[in-house]
Amino acid sequence: MKQTLKIFLHFFLIIFLTAITQIGGIVYLLFLVVIYFFKTKNILLKVGVFSMLYLFFIYVVVPPIARWKGREPVVTTENISPTNYMTVLLNRNYVVPEMNNLLLKAGKQLKGTRIKIKYLDACFPFVNGFPLLPHLSHNDGRKLDLSLVYENQEKKITDLQKSISGYGVYEEVKKEEWDQPAKCLEAGNFQYDFPQYLTFGRINKELEFSNSGNKKLINILLAQPNLGKLFIEPHLKQRLKLNHPKVRFHGCRAVRHDDHIHIQL
Ligand SMILES: [Zn+2]
Repeated sequence: MKQTLKIFLHFFLIIFLTAITQIGGIVYLLFLVVIYFFKTKNILLKVGVFSMLYLFFIYVVVPPIARWKGREPVVTTENISPTNYMTVLLNRNYVVPEMNNLLLKAGKQLKGTRIKIKYLDACFPFVNGFPLLPHLSHNDGRKLDLSLVYENQEKKITDLQKSISGYGVYEEVKKEEWDQPAKCLEAGNFQYDFPQYLTFGRINKELEFSNSGNKKLINILLAQPNLGKLFIEPHLKQRLKLNHPKVRFHGCRAVRHDDHIHIQL
């Protein structure tokens, strides 16, 4: 009985780690082999060995193989960085080089402003069609989520965010605006509101959505020729007066996009 439970637990961990990091399941298998030879029962040592192996993979093994297969980590510069470093640790920061070129150009055009490109989930390093849950479409290295831009109490643009994960705190619909979330929820698309459970904690409650900052960031992104589409919730499109044909509605079967911006090539 105990043995069956153990096997089930290993199996569950492999599936879970693969689902959230793509390579975590393979690293775990390797870890089981290492532990088998070391025969240690010390839990701290086990956690340490797994962590070392995992870090070695994500920093040393994965990047060159991913590059060879056509993807690379999202660039980090003085004005492009992850909102939460877990994105990098969980391997959710891989894109095709074309996306990095787009970001670098946009970053250059943002120099001299207070606006920073803060990225959220991109794609996994390998395999076209392997979805980065919960985003089913982030499966080809050509999709990337970005954080919204906020202002602090002094009305200054900041790169701080309103949740730990960067997701899930909505910039709600105002009275006179088109209420797409209500329409999607009424139509039975209950998943539309799902990101609210992914905040991992709300922070910086005093921050306010920056009309000028978001408009500037989005217009610079839209001006990049290799940008295919940009998704943002319709009421924000209306508020920011975005009329560009590349600004699209993602449909009610996705999740709402008033906590982040989605771009794709
Ligand atoms: Zn997205």
